[in-house]
Amino acid sequence: MQIDLQKPMAIDSVIYRNHPVPYTRDGNVYMLNFTGKIADQETPTVIIYFSGKPREAVRAPWDGGWIWTKDDLGRPWMSVACQGLGASVWYPCKDHQSDEPDKGASLTMIIPDTLVGVANGRNIENKSIGNGLTSTTWEVINPINNYNLIPYIGKYVHWGEAFKCEKGKLDCDYWVLDYELKKAKVQFEQVPKMLKCFEYWFGPYPFYEDGYKLVQSPYLGMEHQSAVAYGNGFKNGYLGSDLSRSGWGLKWDYILIHESGHEWFGNNITTKDIADMWVHEGFTNYSETIYTHCEFGLEAGNEYEIGLRKSIANDKPIIGHYNVNNEGIGDMYYKGSALVHTIRQLVNDDERFRTLLRNMNQLFWHKTVTTQDVELYFNKKTGINFTKIFDQYLRTTQIPVLEYKVNVDGIEYRWTNCVKGFDMKLRLTNGGWIAPTEVWQSIQLTADEISKFDADPNFYITTKKIK
Ligand SMILES: [Zn+2]
Repeated sequence: MQIDLQKPMAIDSVIYRNHPVPYTRDGNVYMLNFTGKIADQETPTVIIYFSGKPREAVRAPWDGGWIWTKDDLGRPWMSVACQGLGASVWYPCKDHQSDEPDKGASLTMIIPDTLVGVANGRNIENKSIGNGLTSTTWEVINPINNYNLIPYIGKYVHWGEAFKCEKGKLDCDYWVLDYELKKAKVQFEQVPKMLKCFEYWFGPYPFYEDGYKLVQSPYLGMEHQSAVAYGNGFKNGYLGSDLSRSGWGLKWDYILIHESGHEWFGNNITTKDIADMWVHEGFTNYSETIYTHCEFGLEAGNEYEIGLRKSIANDKPIIGHYNVNNEGIGDMYYKGSALVHTIRQLVNDDERFRTLLRNMNQLFWHKTVTTQDVELYFNKKTGINFTKIFDQYLRTTQIPVLEYKVNVDGIEYRWTNCVKGFDMKLRLTNGGWIAPTEVWQSIQLTADEISKFDADPNFYITTKKIK
């Protein structure tokens, strides 16, 4: 059995059936050598003792590790962020996204009894263990990505509420530093609106048994399952700014919405390899557009979505390298979202598109997937062949160009700057459709129609008029 644990942390011993298990270490990889076979039906217990002072984060959450900091009143505040870097930075685990513990996980913190410890799921035990120390245990019963399993320790206070949601009563709990309570109670009024919108579009919240939770964190945010890290200063926007520059991004709290969106895309549906991380970030970025739509209407959502495109770099393809812990590049957010928005345009029926997103969360419920799984899902359920479209947007940096020329009685058009065989249909601003390919085609139009000829800006393409 391979178990990962990153230096300077070290495994001290491994116990199975009351006997030590021999192991070898090669860098951050431990190979545990079990003698004898473990029966298929057996659920064995392997105890791993480990120790060390884990790496401290330099710039959490992006450069991960432990965060030992102080709150504004100078009291200790601790947590971890380790996406990408891997949970093996602080505890021994099978550090790979393709597998998750089927029956969840629990975390016990031993902390000074002047502080409060919070983690994923539900608090199942608290006990004083003397010497001014408290032991607190939290547990999730659903599968969880190991980078999502996170302790938060500080001067937390709590309030909770329950909402009647799609699958019944959903417990929502909030943990913030004591002096932030007033601001937090106002800001977190966005939670029920978010839940209503996301359940409508994506299906039931994926972890009712573990509850929904927001926990104030000493870094901007992270999608920690059923204990979402929140560090956006109780302000709307992304640290107070609008990433879309459309105005809509200041109407809601970016971290609250985005990190909660990950409960569906990232935590419910997880990619097997972080090279496919666009499935997490592209769809979650799209959840921001969906939230804007829910609260302010379709046009507002479209404006938010289109506004984000200015930040697409198109310097490298979105999908990273497989099998070497290489995550996709930054464009997986906005460009991934632009791809989802383009899929929505091609489906051309919001009720159907919504059903597609809901069924996607149902089909891949608590599962790990690949880009190909997602692509096949959309191909099968829509009858549209998205293969070239996925190739174009995920595996190249080229944005398709609709080239067109004006004739006396119409327009000639074709796709260029595209993968071979690219044949995406396109809606025009007048609501009509054309089906360009790489070969010139023509359409008859009146002089007035010619003057108004343009592609619907909801498609992520560019147009070029040539002589
Ligand atoms: Zn994200």
